[in-house]
Amino acid sequence: MLAALSAARYLTASGHDGSVLILERNRVLGRKLAITGKGRANVTNARSLDEFVQAFGPSGRFLYPAFESFFSDDLVALFAEVGLQLKTERGGRVFPVTDKAQDVVQALGLLLVRDGVDTLYSARVRSIDSESGDWTIGLESRGPLRCRAVVVATGGKSYPGTGSTGDGYELLEHVGHHPGRLLPGLVSLHCPEKWLRELVGISLEGVAVEAWVGPKLLARRQGEVMITDRGIGGPAVLSLSLAVTPALAESHAVVLCMDLRPEKTLAQELHDIEACGNADEILVNVSRFLPRRMALELMYVWGIEGKGSTPLPKKTLAAVARSVKGVELRCTGADPLASAIITQGGVPLREVDPRSMGSRLVPGLFIAGELLDLQAVTGGYNLQAAFSTGFLAGRCAAEYVAKSPNDSKL
Ligand SMILES: Cc1cc2nc3c(=O)[nH]c(=O)nc-3n(C[C@H](O)[C@H](O)[C@H](O)COP(=O)(O)OP(=O)(O)OC[C@H]3O[C@@H](n4cnc5c(N)ncnc54)[C@H](O)[C@@H]3O)c2cc1C
Repeated sequence: MLAALSAARYLTASGHDGSVLILERNRVLGRKLAITGKGRANVTNARSLDEFVQAFGPSGRFLYPAFESFFSDDLVALFAEVGLQLKTERGGRVFPVTDKAQDVVQALGLLLVRDGVDTLYSARVRSIDSESGDWTIGLESRGPLRCRAVVVATGGKSYPGTGSTGDGYELLEHVGHHPGRLLPGLVSLHCPEKWLRELVGISLEGVAVEAWVGPKLLARRQGEVMITDRGIGGPAVLSLSLAVTPALAESHAVVLCMDLRPEKTLAQELHDIEACGNADEILVNVSRFLPRRMALELMYVWGIEGKGSTPLPKKTLAAVARSVKGVELRCTGADPLASAIITQGGVPLREVDPRSMGSRLVPGLFIAGELLDLQAVTGGYNLQAAFSTGFLAGRCAAEYVAKSPNDSKL
């Protein structure tokens, strides 16, 4: 949508005749957008450009030109044009003040109409082919269309019911791109430990979770962790999963380590637990920072349940302290791609010019959004990346058409 909008704006501003058409397989626009942020749409983040780039890990540098051409403040200004106000919450997360993702979709729809972008609905693209500088777009339910430039922004392969079934990877492969392995990103992780099952639904605030393969630390995240029916989830775990699912795909044995009290060192925790000295006191102590149900379950895991006020051996107290600082869980799997928040993997960044989002392999082709091999932690970064790369791709596609001999459809 942003690609179409910025293309239309460029053509109008530069006085060119070309027109812009969105081909959308659904009967409405933005079905995935409408379910983002649990229906509230965490559209962007208030953090700085550098922090944004960091949220994408080492590949984030690719995004500098896109973010420089259209960043979070531009998004706020764009929505304000049609009266949609945004607000900033914890962690810099930005949402519409109405808390309704549907209002974001509606705002984009209004902007598209206002800027003269046409949309063809129920128009599933089945092929894209380039010949002598012209593109032929094959559609599922009607005859082909021709145009001078194409922006492919068909999203990833998760939540296929929203329309993002991964068609774009095949379309791009057909014209010479090499989308790599696709994996679920931002997913809950599966842990077989039986005692966790007693705690389903419990939410732990400010916990630090690490993922290890043997002696190698894959990643560490801190934040909310939720106990799910298959293991652990919640924002910290979803972000951690970006490092875990590739390791699982390589059949590595992954161990998760939850630090239930990251604000204390192991020495401080040991001091506290030794000061408690018995099971009753330990229960009182850990119930101060953990839900009571969880504290009771841990007493069982630590083998001190029912030991009352009997003094515990030093060895046991040390083991309890170590466990508070690192509850170990085996990670045997992750939720599947179909229910992932994002798709990990995609079109290799080396095949795309970051200054234009143009394909380095085929002229007149631009690629944006989740199709690219870019993924960030939770917090509104992924949507902003889709908006920013879309905006840049659209503008550069329009520039490309404006420079080509026969102005035509985009
Ligand atoms: C449940 C959920 C919650 C999320 N919450 C957040 C959040 O709060 N904040 C955040 O930053 N990110 C969030 N995300 C991630 C975010 O939604 C995606 O990263 C983003 O939507 C990607 O944008 P996109 O434009 O690349 O693709 P999409 O939004 O998937 O849009 C692609 C469009 O292309 C259409 N299409 C696909 N194939 C074809 C075809 N062959 N022909 C024609 N049209 C086609 C689809 O119907 C769709 O409308 C969430 C994702 C999910 C699943």
